[in-house]
Amino acid sequence: QQEEWAKLKNEPTFSKDGEQVELAANIGTPEDVSGVLNNGGEGIGLYRTEFLYMGKKQLPTEDEQYNAYKSVLEQMGDKPVVVRTLDIGGDKELEYLDLPKELNPFLGFRAIRFCLENEDVFRPQLRALLRASVHGNLKIMYPMIATLEEFRQAKAILVDEKESLLSEGVKVSSTIEVGIMVEIPSTAVIAKQFAKEVDFFSIGTNDLIQYTMAADRMNERVSYLYQPYHPAILNLVNTVIEAAHNEGKWVGMCGEMAGDPIAIPLLLGLGLDEFSMSATSILPARTQIRDLSKKDIASYKDKILSMGTADEVVEFIKKKTD
Ligand code: PEP
Ligand code: MG
Repeated sequence: QQEEWAKLKNEPTFSKDGEQVELAANIGTPEDVSGVLNNGGEGIGLYRTEFLYMGKKQLPTEDEQYNAYKSVLEQMGDKPVVVRTLDIGGDKELEYLDLPKELNPFLGFRAIRFCLENEDVFRPQLRALLRASVHGNLKIMYPMIATLEEFRQAKAILVDEKESLLSEGVKVSSTIEVGIMVEIPSTAVIAKQFAKEVDFFSIGTNDLIQYTMAADRMNERVSYLYQPYHPAILNLVNTVIEAAHNEGKWVGMCGEMAGDPIAIPLLLGLGLDEFSMSATSILPARTQIRDLSKKDIASYKDKILSMGTADEVVEFIKKKTD
């Protein structure tokens, strides 16, 4: 099996019926990139930039960030690199910021909420990204977007920083796509409205599942409710994909679900364009997708989306893709 995987390392990803998708990887540091390329990754679907900020005594400087982003972009060449702006809070704490303790950190002051109120932290990251953009194929992604206003505000700050860099004579790429993570149900529900304004979506199922099912992703006691194949989740994923495609935009997924062999046929059938997973899952996923007919699975879409339970969904998709 290892041999079969190795043969597919430099191949694009096609389903049995000739439909192409992109298999990308999630990374946390520039050192992770070689593993992505060795495992046949076609891009970076999620660069979690928190690692630059964690395990330190103070915030990283703009130059430190620039060097990290540049390194990832250069190593990836023409391949797309989706960098997510700072997503602290929830399970990711930064001691030196000394933020007040909250009763429900996952529902609290985190990610884009923090960044929009702390522009002194947010702007240097955006500047570092804009400066690095000339070194590769950069896409910028905002985490935890709950409202259109948040996206517009974050985008306006980016445009503002771009203009100041250009006026300083610093080169910035003119083709940077700007998208959002869909990990809050409100955003999935009005994906149609978002699709008119964003360049792409990436569905963050790790959080989308916890917020949709109201089940803390870290709490063992309620882990039985953490159901990726629940029809509610699949309907939200479908809403996002349809909304994006109607506006000619692409949709990725960077939660754990994207690399899950049971979920992959479902996501392929729903029309997901990009699957971002841990590097070691890429070649197994490419092998699996080559044996799946996207049109076949898509023909069962309405049936799957109207099922009542996750168990029904799993039983059905296993039977159909055996
Ligand atoms: C997600 O929520 O699915 C995601 C990819 O982000 P993180 O796991 O970093 O919260
Ligand atoms: Mg998340």
